[in-house]
Amino acid sequence: MEFHGPSTVDEAVSLLAADEEARCLAGGATLVAMMNADLLMPSALVSLRHIEALRGISAGADGGLRVGAMTTHREVAHATGLYGAHALLAGTARVIGHPAIRNMGTIGGSIGHGDPQADYPGALVALDAAVEVQGPEGARTVAAGDFFVDYLETALLPGELITAVTLPPPPAGACGAYEKFARVEGDYATVSVAAVVAMEDGRCSYARVALGSCGPTPVRAEAAEERLTGSALEDADIAEAAAILREECDPVDDVRGSGEYRMMLVEPLLGRALRAAAAKGGSR
Ligand SMILES: Cc1cc2nc3c(=O)[nH]c(=O)nc-3n(C[C@H](O)[C@H](O)[C@H](O)COP(=O)(O)OP(=O)(O)OC[C@H]3O[C@@H](n4cnc5c(N)ncnc54)[C@H](O)[C@@H]3O)c2cc1C
Repeated sequence: MEFHGPSTVDEAVSLLAADEEARCLAGGATLVAMMNADLLMPSALVSLRHIEALRGISAGADGGLRVGAMTTHREVAHATGLYGAHALLAGTARVIGHPAIRNMGTIGGSIGHGDPQADYPGALVALDAAVEVQGPEGARTVAAGDFFVDYLETALLPGELITAVTLPPPPAGACGAYEKFARVEGDYATVSVAAVVAMEDGRCSYARVALGSCGPTPVRAEAAEERLTGSALEDADIAEAAAILREECDPVDDVRGSGEYRMMLVEPLLGRALRAAAAKGGSR
């Protein structure tokens, strides 16, 4: 196996484009574990570790945010300046795995793997985020809602890598909350709910909701968001929105819970996430 340590994105793209069996290496938390288990044996590893352009979080003049692909979960969890809806990203990073995983794992590696049980995908969909990618044909941007295509499958084309995740300016007054139900602390979610909510005079004026671990990709239902908008987020509103969301779910039975159990978790977790986001009301 060959090992490359490019210092620019262009160099990394050329190496990936030249060899279809090559893989990017980010934190290695998943890739190296899969190689150790003989599940994957790439012909070459293209380490992204020395590419400075892939690191860090920067705020745009419009209030949007850009998170470099090699930014670790720990860096996102402790980032300053993530307010309102953007605080959802930090809240999500804080519950990924355990400290060693948060030190190693990166946002690019997490979404590049395309695991529907991971924490970032649902949060990025609820935040209307976009994924910046670069490949042999140049750079392009894919909406987070279109990026996750199927179980462990993303919209990345051969030779492309993720350079960053971008968040639009947070909607006025909106706050986010992430609710994760896991068997034990540090485990992947049995079910997760990411919510972004704004309230005006006790009524929901903006709602975005995405479920994780409930199908091969994050589950979002515009009809559920419409049902919540204008409501006071009472139990009946949440129950109806949960019923709409459940129609879109296709959860698997696995060691973390049966599909039936996952369906049962949707409503209580949705209620918790919506109420937590509404209660934050603009503060981090
Ligand atoms: C014990 C354990 C517990 C975990 N718990 C959780 C959890 O609770 N929640 C959760 O969400 N995740 C969890 N993870 C996953 C972890 O958080 C990382 O997100 C994940 O390992 C991938 O990040 P990485 O940077 O290590 O990527 P790597 O392992 O280096 O790469 C993963 C995949 O993404 C590809 N890739 C990497 N970077 C890019 C890029 N920039 N562009 C395109 N493709 C790229 C690689 O080629 C590879 O296919 C856990 C992992 C372990 C080992």
